Amino acid sequence: MTEFAAPSLEVAVAMPVRGTFTYGVPESFVSAALPGVRVLAPFGRRRATGYILGPGCSPDQKDIKPILDVLDESPVFPASMIPLFRWAADYYKHPLGEVIQAALPGGMTFFERVAFSITEKGLHQLNGDGGLTELERRVLGRLARARLRALELRKQVGQEVPGPVLSGLERRGFLVRQVLLRGGAAKPLLERWVRARAAAPAGGLSAKKRTILETLASAGELQVSELAARVPRAAAHLQALEQARYVEIFRRRLYRDPFGEPIPPDSAPALTVAQDAAVRKVCAALGKGFRTFLLKGVTSSGKTEVYMRVAAEAVASGRSALVLVPEIALISQTERRFRARFGEQIAVLHSGLSEGERFDQWTRILRGEVRIAIGVRSAVFAPFSDLGVIIVDEEHDASYKQEGGLHYSARDLAVVRAQQLKTVALLGSATPSLQSYYHVRTGKYAELALPQRIEERPLPDIRVVDLRERRDLRGPGRFISDELKHALGGTLSRGEQALLFLNRRGFASFPVCAACGSALRCQHCDISLTLHQAANAYRCHYCGFSRPATAVCDACGSSKIKRLGMGTEKVESAVRALFPQARIARMDHDTTRRKGSILSLLKGLRERTVDVLVGTQMVAKGHDFPAITLVGIICADLSLSFPDFRAGERTFQLLAQVAGRAGRGERPGQVILQTYNPENFNIRAARDQDFEAFYEKEIGFRKALGYPPLARMIQLRISGRDPQRTRQSAERLGEYCRSLKVADRGNFATLDILGPVEAALARIAGNFRWQVLLKSLNGGALHRFMDRLIAEHPQAFAARSERVVIDVDPFFMM
Ligand SMILES: [Zn+2]
Ligand SMILES: [Zn+2]
Repeated sequence: MTEFAAPSLEVAVAMPVRGTFTYGVPESFVSAALPGVRVLAPFGRRRATGYILGPGCSPDQKDIKPILDVLDESPVFPASMIPLFRWAADYYKHPLGEVIQAALPGGMTFFERVAFSITEKGLHQLNGDGGLTELERRVLGRLARARLRALELRKQVGQEVPGPVLSGLERRGFLVRQVLLRGGAAKPLLERWVRARAAAPAGGLSAKKRTILETLASAGELQVSELAARVPRAAAHLQALEQARYVEIFRRRLYRDPFGEPIPPDSAPALTVAQDAAVRKVCAALGKGFRTFLLKGVTSSGKTEVYMRVAAEAVASGRSALVLVPEIALISQTERRFRARFGEQIAVLHSGLSEGERFDQWTRILRGEVRIAIGVRSAVFAPFSDLGVIIVDEEHDASYKQEGGLHYSARDLAVVRAQQLKTVALLGSATPSLQSYYHVRTGKYAELALPQRIEERPLPDIRVVDLRERRDLRGPGRFISDELKHALGGTLSRGEQALLFLNRRGFASFPVCAACGSALRCQHCDISLTLHQAANAYRCHYCGFSRPATAVCDACGSSKIKRLGMGTEKVESAVRALFPQARIARMDHDTTRRKGSILSLLKGLRERTVDVLVGTQMVAKGHDFPAITLVGIICADLSLSFPDFRAGERTFQLLAQVAGRAGRGERPGQVILQTYNPENFNIRAARDQDFEAFYEKEIGFRKALGYPPLARMIQLRISGRDPQRTRQSAERLGEYCRSLKVADRGNFATLDILGPVEAALARIAGNFRWQVLLKSLNGGALHRFMDRLIAEHPQAFAARSERVVIDVDPFFMM
């Protein structure tokens, strides 16, 4: 082992392993090895990306390995973020290196891939006869065509190739194993620039070269492409000019601009009394330690203006502001308003950016070149080192919850980050989450209220239509009531816009065989297929499985399929039939796959080239279009029946939000809410826009049943392709939980273990799914329990065939 003079380092490795590791630093790397810098480190028999966290814990240890390389000239995240990463790893039970990897923009991680190639000797053996097993022959046969990675090899051979088979072939010299280092593709984009070093001499230069020097003398530095635009064919002469030392060519970093169009600047409007009071309260708290505010403002009450004033104040005091918004569609609108106010001071972080664009935005924040960042969920990790305020708009929104990989809540992490930095968190919503409002009631958060719409515009008038009376109707009359049809006609004749909301996409969500009555189901999931007319196919919304629209019944072979159940496509075609002159657009997952399509739909609304927008929950989110005067809720009940304790909360939020899209301009708005459950409490509370009434009743249920926010939960999700083995794994995990609770009653007496049970969606994409739910009024005990469970049964959480996902504070219970 190498000897080091230098101290050792604590490194988190971007691998699925818990804990951190100590590495040595070769002399030549000592000055570069700072916290926040990425390194290449040996890990087992491989190499991996690691992140330096600080000095190592055991500098005297003899057998520590040295890092192999330092990958950055300067840190890629500020050291002040390390406590946040550690907290997230600990709280969400996720490997620390993978937490950091998830936080950084993509393309910044190097990883190893093993690939196999056939040798000359192997080729010879393959072409001869004997000496090879059938499997070896197939492996070499595939490798004779191309170098393959282990995964590709397995696919092409059509079965698992056991390690000893590959090592055997390697030992006999028939194949070689190569280790390729991949990834780390995000790099700054460099542009060629040119500037003059000397003035043009009196003689001896061609006219063209003279023109180039004169152009540079008057323009100063120019991009080479810009010079070529001004002086045709200039590029051909630059090398000669550089060699003669007349000009200097250099490279400068170019920031890829994620913004499409220029935005005219705005000036700050006068605040309403309520806005002014809210701004004052938050600004008074800036720079004075940790505090969380909940801004509860009805729809169209001017929350964004409050955010902008607070951000401006934070920037004026020399600090930065981070603004989180739920989804890409909303980011464009918020970004537009912030850009109109703050110009180029804004960085934007969302998944619609290319890897390179994200990397550039990240770097601008890291270097302190911008003071305000707006972004979706993952922007909670924006690398600011001097945050003055963290703002979370529409804090109730489900898209703040990350599913897959590091399961986290960006809203909750934002509050934790503010607490660690001793700064202010400002959460806002028209329909706050039960959890946040509970914190207001218990004194943890301070409440700010905007009880009225700006300019005292009235909240929309909401009329409830009972769909039960229309059950026996056929055709569009079943789901477009006379009231809605009449209102739509009026809106269109006045030249105003309408929004029709249905939280289900496709044409028919419940295709049923007319002959035998069986439903058309996905082959891989426990769910009905949905007919998509535009795609002329049945599709599964969970795994993407698709069958042609001409498919026949699996049970009896009949081709007569009834297209029951509705979706946005059916609503769109019904409105087209009723109002052939109207310009109709649809906004759902199917119409917005292409990059930029959401923006162009929103632009159509703004520029009034669309009269009616039909959409799923995507249309409910915070959009602000003054000419929308009618909102039609086609069926308010769809989210009510989900087997999830938050179904009522989600329904209330969704209905109140979508209703809030109406009447944001000078003309008053109206909402037609169609439902099969007009007496349902959540629907009535949404109709009355009565958050307090909703809260009191819902919190009563949660108390009675011991659900969040009063209790804390961790969900363990077990999934696997073999039904028996998955069930056994789930049962085993349940046993581990129960024996741990029995073994330590003192600590875990109040902890509830629910399950294992089959998940509500028992099969998705061929995976059988089970759940164990851990619940406790004592969050600390719950986490200690989980930590001990992992420590005592590490194999249960590392299994490959029956995977266990740990979801702390789960959001989607199905
Ligand atoms: Zn049938
Ligand atoms: Zn499926």
